[in-house]
Amino acid sequence: MAQDLFQAPDYFGLDDLLTEEHKLVRDAAREWVKREVSPIIEDAAQKAEFPKEIIGGLAEIGAFGPYIPEEYGGAGLDQISYGLIMQEIERGDSGVRSTASVQSSLVMYPIWKYGTEEQKQKFLPKLASGEFIGCFGLTEPDFGSNPGGMVTNIKDMGDHYLLNGAKMWISNAPFADIAVVWAKNEEGRIKGIIVERGMEGFSTPETHNKWSLRASATGELIFDNVKVPKENLMPNKDGLGAPLGCLDSARYGIAWGAIGAAMDCYDTALRYAKERVQFDKPIAGTQLQQKKLAEMITEITKAQLLTWRLGVLRNEGNATSAQISMAKRNNVDMALNIAREARQILGAMGITGEYSIMRHMMNLESVITYEGTHDIHLLITGLDITGIPAFK
Ligand SMILES: Cc1cc2nc3c(=O)[nH]c(=O)nc-3n(C[C@H](O)[C@H](O)[C@H](O)COP(=O)(O)OP(=O)(O)OC[C@H]3O[C@@H](n4cnc5c(N)ncnc54)[C@H](O)[C@@H]3O)c2cc1C
Repeated sequence: MAQDLFQAPDYFGLDDLLTEEHKLVRDAAREWVKREVSPIIEDAAQKAEFPKEIIGGLAEIGAFGPYIPEEYGGAGLDQISYGLIMQEIERGDSGVRSTASVQSSLVMYPIWKYGTEEQKQKFLPKLASGEFIGCFGLTEPDFGSNPGGMVTNIKDMGDHYLLNGAKMWISNAPFADIAVVWAKNEEGRIKGIIVERGMEGFSTPETHNKWSLRASATGELIFDNVKVPKENLMPNKDGLGAPLGCLDSARYGIAWGAIGAAMDCYDTALRYAKERVQFDKPIAGTQLQQKKLAEMITEITKAQLLTWRLGVLRNEGNATSAQISMAKRNNVDMALNIAREARQILGAMGITGEYSIMRHMMNLESVITYEGTHDIHLLITGLDITGIPAFK
């Protein structure tokens, strides 16, 4: 990939709304991405491999459990710092951000919120340091947008649970040390249970041939009569609301992350347009390319403001799930549109790995589908404003 010359757009002076701590955290993540992610990410994506060598660095910048209390190894930061870290990581690559999101919001968050003190002590510090990598098993082959229909189940066998079923499309699965798995008990109630690598009957085959999120490992979780100790059940919340609580946190991070991908595409296209000469002048001097660039910075600015406000609401504990849905949906769509337009500004160069745009564009095709599809988030807003569910 060409040298990382990224300069973050801040058209409305959003930095004025950030604290010194926010800026320090953001700048540290930004520098780390330039130094450690940009030089290797294109190669990792081409090879379809998660670059494991960056796990230590992700832990160091606080990407594993940014808002988990320090007593459990987390960074103890607020929601805006968490968002800014996700923004910077996804500026590098959505696949790397996915690994950090899963670890923080879908593995550490449920253990912290729904787990026992023993589970917190046992798993959270190792997850925060990157010694353990986790994954989150909700989606099943026949239940994606409708996870409440899941068939994966646990049976109480007295001294342990017997787990059966399968999960699909699970980020980090192929190399995860633990999996937070959602399964129904005999009464049909959804429970969260921690499954550890090495348990008999538990396997995690990798999903190959993805054209998207190639630098993130995706796989299945297969449970064939897995004996899970009773102490691995997370007792403090159950029902669909338990996994949805995790998704709120992850979707919030994605809303910020998508801005990062959009900023990178815009910044790359702007620089290219100023340098690329056709018909004896830079293409940036043509009305058509200016329209694209002007619309991009307008959309990025709107998303930045929306998401910063969401961060304030999250810090106050007042953000609703529907607000998070709106921000996730808007920002990912915005980023995908910008990636497509930016790719065109680069002409033929836009399809190569010399520039990050095509990789962002392909990655965002997953981001617009996972953690609730673009359609489902629209239906969530529809339900919120009308009071009438239109899912069925
Ligand atoms: C790379 C990647 C990583 C992922 N990582 C994870 C992970 O770590 N853990 C995990 O649990 N899951 C993960 N997922 C799964 C992801 O969350 C699901 O793919 C997503 O929820 C959609 O489910 P589905 O693919 O089965 O699509 P479906 O639910 O089958 O939807 C297909 C289409 O139908 C539309 N649709 C569905 N229902 C309705 C309706 N009621 N009204 C109108 N339209 C509707 C959808 O919007 C979509 O366009 C990942 C997916 C990908 C691609």
